[in-house]
Amino acid sequence: MKVDIVVVAAGSGSRFGQDKIFFELYGKPLVFYTLHNLFSSYHFEKKILVLNPRKISEGEKKLYPFFPDLVIVEGGNERTISVLNGVRESVSDYVLIHDGARPFVPSHVVENVVKALRDWYAVTPAEPVRDTVKYHEGEFVIRTLDRSSLKSIQTPQGFRRDIIRSALEDALHEGLIYTDETTLIEERGLKAKFVPGSPLNFKITYEEDVKMAERILSSNLRSGIGFDIHRFSKGRRMVLGGVDIPCEYGLAGHSDGDALTHAIIDALLGASSLGDIGELFPDSDERFRDIRSTILLERVVSLMEGRGFFPVNIDAVVITERPKILKYRDGIVKNLSRILRIPENRVSVKGKTAEKMGFVGRKEGLAVIANALVMEVKNANG
Ligand code: MG
Repeated sequence: MKVDIVVVAAGSGSRFGQDKIFFELYGKPLVFYTLHNLFSSYHFEKKILVLNPRKISEGEKKLYPFFPDLVIVEGGNERTISVLNGVRESVSDYVLIHDGARPFVPSHVVENVVKALRDWYAVTPAEPVRDTVKYHEGEFVIRTLDRSSLKSIQTPQGFRRDIIRSALEDALHEGLIYTDETTLIEERGLKAKFVPGSPLNFKITYEEDVKMAERILSSNLRSGIGFDIHRFSKGRRMVLGGVDIPCEYGLAGHSDGDALTHAIIDALLGASSLGDIGELFPDSDERFRDIRSTILLERVVSLMEGRGFFPVNIDAVVITERPKILKYRDGIVKNLSRILRIPENRVSVKGKTAEKMGFVGRKEGLAVIANALVMEVKNANG
């Protein structure tokens, strides 16, 4: 069954004070988690994100590297215009509409909606109301509602595209203000069907919700360490973190000898439990002779991302008498941040001498220790 997804993230976030859609959580914008969880739940035919026009270039820069088949369209001042712009872009017979600020949508909720769409034209996930709900006037309770006849509505809401499209066109024409698309179905005298939602599928509305999101994500953090030693060798290049460093000797090795990148690779693989550099790129393999180690790092990052592991930050110490690292640090950080797809302030590289002791002190070689923090972005199936 071909289904498109429209993620609506064009609001001004006025209740939040700042733009919540791009609020940074562990180095990624909030909407990154929304998209990752949706796209790992179902194979959507077309993936559409509606953004505030002021946010489009930021969205392209931050999201296209992870979601190359994402289509970003401009939203409007009102929800009707934003959703309609998204739905006009869709091509399949069915379309799901999701709030960009619901980052933890579990895959079973998406599956419930798609499944129910097979024999009903409008579907919405809903949860029982957990708290007692009361009418009030000012600070005083007036009366209690019967919560057994109430449902709390979530997204993604699923529709036959022709039905929701004409409902949206009419709403735009009539200037109807609403907060969820199911309302448009009711307005037409039609009926939307409920499927089970999830408490995890909450909407980030207030600042407290961000704290909750941070706590949920923090349980998915994992750390790893990496270590590497390379001998110095005359006539070889000195490459560290992909940066060529002028030096009277270089680093011996099957690849370009970039020990910093090797240690980072092992730290990332360790945090992700995906083996180690020797298993992935054995030095008996001619394909890796003299290869730039940053190419290997790119492959490791894409392997990790394919399994749902995303680097959060790295820290490394290069233990060597020479060369001095400080002068080249900015270039190395820039390089690694680009390859790891994390902000520069999440990459740290430091130099340290061995006080002239041991093999480092005798300038026979250098050693690197690296630490990586990785997040396993998993779709909550609970
Ligand atoms: Mg090595």
